[in-house]
Amino acid sequence: MGHCPRNGHTVPDPHLGRYAARTAGMTASEIRALFAVASRPEVVSLAGGMPNLAALPLETLAGQAAQLIAGEGLTALQYASAHGLPVLREQICEVMALEGITARPDDVVVTVGSQMGLDLVARLFCDPGDVVVAEGPSYVGALGSFASYQAQVVHVPMDGHGLVPEALRAALLQARAAGQRVKLLYTIPNFHNPAGVTLAVERRAEILEICRAFDVLVVEDNPYGLLGFDGQTYPALRSLDPENVVYLGSFSKTFASGLRVGWVLAPHAVRDKLVLATESATLCPPTLNQMIVSRYLATHDWQGQIKTFREEYRERRDAMLGALEAYLPPGCTWTEPEGGFYVWVTVPEGVDTKAMLPRAVAARVAYASGTGFYTDGAGSRRMRLSYCYPTPERICEGVRRLGAVMESELAHAFAGA
Ligand code: PMP
Repeated sequence: MGHCPRNGHTVPDPHLGRYAARTAGMTASEIRALFAVASRPEVVSLAGGMPNLAALPLETLAGQAAQLIAGEGLTALQYASAHGLPVLREQICEVMALEGITARPDDVVVTVGSQMGLDLVARLFCDPGDVVVAEGPSYVGALGSFASYQAQVVHVPMDGHGLVPEALRAALLQARAAGQRVKLLYTIPNFHNPAGVTLAVERRAEILEICRAFDVLVVEDNPYGLLGFDGQTYPALRSLDPENVVYLGSFSKTFASGLRVGWVLAPHAVRDKLVLATESATLCPPTLNQMIVSRYLATHDWQGQIKTFREEYRERRDAMLGALEAYLPPGCTWTEPEGGFYVWVTVPEGVDTKAMLPRAVAARVAYASGTGFYTDGAGSRRMRLSYCYPTPERICEGVRRLGAVMESELAHAFAGA
């Protein structure tokens, strides 16, 4: 801390005394730090969560973008409302209907990816010291947003059926007894990042009831909900309790992450505040990108495209599960995701995933150590493996390398014991 790299050297940061206190919570995520090495071609990266865009109709999209600029450029290249384009907000309501949500376009706020939605929600609700309850493990980007508003994250365990309601109740009782103010439950109910599990339908109403009873607002983050490998969808928490759920959606995993178009569906009163917060954060979401998404939804078989993505991800998931079975040493266990991008692996005693990472990268495979997904230091015997981006062959080769690295860690641990 307090030093910054320059020309290969680390020098004291001359601005150290100036930073706001909230920057203390801003640390580079372990995943970000890995990006540079992991993106070398000889390394099989099972670390990042980049969607596989290869199946997108690029020629068609290029033609549409050109038409938008040539035909409607004076609108497409101009500022627009902070709320988001009305036509896109209507289409977003149609997308959400697939998961049982009935919403008015007026209650949708378009954001620069759902990451911005997370930041706005944290900005609106978190004072320093407030508690946000989140699954353990949880999405790194959300943990970063909460940290930057100086909120404290309390993790609640999951099992194979997602967040455990009794554990949530116990955590809320404990926080209450400690005099803490719990503002939000942040949850990723479907095809969890990083855990790869889905919240059982039977648990959904119970979790919502618990949050109501403790006066906690639910933030439902659902970028993967339409990526169930059998085309299965689950009722959104928002559809079960519209007044106490803020829902975050995204086109990043179902269309194109680089366009940075996501949204928040909020109870009406919250919606007003979100629009004001957007104005101060970015004035408005990018007009051209919203128009590109809107045109795509209006003219393309976007549900068919999602089906294509799902089929590719299913093939990659299968490749990964097969490789884990074949190559990981005994004592490893993992989740078997039915959608989304990630497998969560538990490794045997003697392996520390954070300490092992440089050795894995030297053996030309990268993963995300479990420690990045907790705020309380847990996760050293867990890792996240993503199967979304590499081809099935690369996935197999990557897991083979990982298995060999783990075998050697175990051999050393055993020899040292
Ligand atoms: N939430 C979760 C759970 C995610 O995995 C991601 C991206 N990895 C995001 C939000 C942010 O997505 P975007 O900003 O691209 O919509």
